[in-house]
Amino acid sequence: MADTINQATRKGFLVDTSRCIGCRSCQVACKQWNKTDADITSNKGTFENPRDLTPALFNRIRFVESEASGAVSWQFLNERCMQCGDAGCMKVCPSPGALYRTKDGIVAYNKEKCISCKYCVSACPFNVPRYDANDKVSKCNLCQSRIEGGMTPACAKACPTESLKFGNRSQLIAKATAAKKTLYGENDLLGLGVVYALEGPPEQYGLPAKPSIPMSIFLWKDVIKPLGILGFWGSIGAMLLHYVTIGPKKIDDETGKGDGHE
Ligand code: SF4
Ligand code: SF4
Ligand code: SF4
Repeated sequence: MADTINQATRKGFLVDTSRCIGCRSCQVACKQWNKTDADITSNKGTFENPRDLTPALFNRIRFVESEASGAVSWQFLNERCMQCGDAGCMKVCPSPGALYRTKDGIVAYNKEKCISCKYCVSACPFNVPRYDANDKVSKCNLCQSRIEGGMTPACAKACPTESLKFGNRSQLIAKATAAKKTLYGENDLLGLGVVYALEGPPEQYGLPAKPSIPMSIFLWKDVIKPLGILGFWGSIGAMLLHYVTIGPKKIDDETGKGDGHE
């Protein structure tokens, strides 16, 4: 069961890739607002920088590079937490309140309640959560404090082309649909909070065509791990039972062997 979201008031982003010019003002604005450290990177022969999300980088521009007739061209994708309607990270988190849904539909987090188990990393279909130097979860929370203060998230505010549009999710989708945009994330995982208008197939942008929560994480969390713990305590119980009913194992001083009581 997914947690409940009020779709009428749900906030979200519409990311129109056709309008993005790759200026990365969104990356910088996020760092500035959240006071995160600079990431030390090195040149790998591409303009994409940094090349992955980090604990101090909550959104970044993915450069999709292609070459035709000797000319290089790019498409850009703003990469971040998708604020999934059915959020794998929340589903597997064993610590109440570490990851939670706000009234605006945001997947927010409380580092003080994070127990560093990293289940959320394995459960995220988009490989988003990162861990900071204190081993606590770190990701975009849609500028929760700005939204609650009636402001636009810093990245959307800084975007000079309105490629990042923030607002009521349903209204953003209605406008994009009326403009005949090809949308990604409208219905996946009970609707992503960050919906994309793409100019090609999702795979071209490095997005999964059909995002889903890996079932293996539930198998590990709900079945294998409890069985393992049961097995551990079962062994302790068997040893205690052996001690009480048969007594401690005796070692023959001469042979060094036990008395056969295993
Ligand atoms: S993208 Fe990943 S981290 Fe973000 S809400 Fe979805 S599952 Fe959680
Ligand atoms: S919404 Fe806020 S926290 Fe999220 S990427 Fe934009 S600026 Fe950063
Ligand atoms: S600020 Fe806007 S135009 Fe610039 S890289 Fe970010 S999304 Fe693209």
